Amino acid sequence: TVRVRFAPSPTGFMHVGNARTALFNYLFARHNKGKLILRIEDTDIERHSEEAVNVIYEALKWMGIEWDEGPDVGGNYGPYRQSQRLDIYRQYINKLKEKGLVYECFCTQEELEAMRQEQLKKGEPPRYTGKCRNLIEEQKKKFLEEGRKPVLRFKVPEDRTIVFNDLIKGRISINSKQLGGDFVIVRSNGMPVYNFVVVIDDALMKITHVIRGEDHISNTPKQILLYEALGFKTPEFAHLPMILGKDRSKLSKRHGSTSVKEFKEKGYLSEAFTNFLALLGWYPKDGKEILSMEELIERFDIKDVNSAPAVFDTTKLNWMNQVYIRNYPIEKLTDLIIPYLQKAGYDINSFDRKWLEKVVEITREYFTVLSDAPEYMEVFLKDEFNFEEKALNFMKESENRLKVVEELLKVLKAQEKEITQETFKEAVKQVGKTLKVKGKELFMPIRIALTGKMSGVEVPILAETLGKERVIKRLEYTLN
Ligand code: GLU
Repeated sequence: TVRVRFAPSPTGFMHVGNARTALFNYLFARHNKGKLILRIEDTDIERHSEEAVNVIYEALKWMGIEWDEGPDVGGNYGPYRQSQRLDIYRQYINKLKEKGLVYECFCTQEELEAMRQEQLKKGEPPRYTGKCRNLIEEQKKKFLEEGRKPVLRFKVPEDRTIVFNDLIKGRISINSKQLGGDFVIVRSNGMPVYNFVVVIDDALMKITHVIRGEDHISNTPKQILLYEALGFKTPEFAHLPMILGKDRSKLSKRHGSTSVKEFKEKGYLSEAFTNFLALLGWYPKDGKEILSMEELIERFDIKDVNSAPAVFDTTKLNWMNQVYIRNYPIEKLTDLIIPYLQKAGYDINSFDRKWLEKVVEITREYFTVLSDAPEYMEVFLKDEFNFEEKALNFMKESENRLKVVEELLKVLKAQEKEITQETFKEAVKQVGKTLKVKGKELFMPIRIALTGKMSGVEVPILAETLGKERVIKRLEYTLN
């Protein structure tokens, strides 16, 4: 059965590139009725906090990604945090030592730098020359006495062609000469490095497919050599295309938000965000772009992933978000909008819930992200508003304009019933007849009197939603 993993380092934020990797692993696992394993790669980083691990859980949960094995849910191949697997790594380090495939290297940073400079001068690509490969015991002892702490290097075979069939990139072939020489697998502080532990973990966790970002493609040949050295079966590899900004440079802070949390906070719906990420490098055969998680799972095929870079198009994300907002269940949408209203200073308890949902229903077509909601809902929620300058000027230009407001107030007060869109339109028509005004001269003063602005939602809908009492209150407010 298919077993894939998402193996983030707890850096404190989830980059969209990582989020896309997680999503593709999830889609692949579910499509193939396999398992997704979450593994926390926390050996490479200096400090890691619980908080940083929670950031990962939260981002994944928000996106609707579920994992079958992991630090929090357990599983048969744990522990799922690398910092808890050090004993396991030690066993395999010993295995490599026994086989004579590794050696201690005592070179200092300065010596390595000098080596590099010399190679640079000769126009050679930088590589570790294997200087410490054949140290005799006496030399090692001397270095240790000097207080040098060795790293452990893996002996890269001299002239080997390493070939693998990437499921996305196709056949990749590289000579071992191009790997930069014998590489470090254990640091001088005793910590094993990524390229080594990832192999142990993927092998012991029975990972069948390694799906990860293209930035790791240069690590893969080294990892393949380690699989072979340890007698493990190599998994399949699939390297996902890079994500670029609109200017075709690597997606970074310069392009705006890059972490999942930022997108969440701006008010992208998780379904829209996930749908959008799914299309970064992959496209469904039937061309349908708006897809639920179920539909994504059904359609996802790793063979259809593009090897060319994907462009992160914010305009498209915004469009998708709007589509989702317009079709979202109104109760859920209102729940999601409430925190933004609270942040904008509204006392939510002062509004009737059903009424609030109605306002969301009317205004949602104007939002791009949920954080836009307070701005568009304001006209319904606040009776004491400020007049836009150009609206104020418009009102001052002619006395007739205030008269329109006065007359409407009179008509509405004379009506017994609650305002509906129909009765409101009737009332406006009546005002027009009485004062002999029409068009903009009739409608604009009313709009301004009720909203302080010269554009916005349809006024009859607004009037009906506000109700007679609040409409009268606003008209009076304008007249004073
Ligand atoms: N911890 C690595 C990363 O976050 C994982 C790479 C891999 O999937 O092998 O980039």
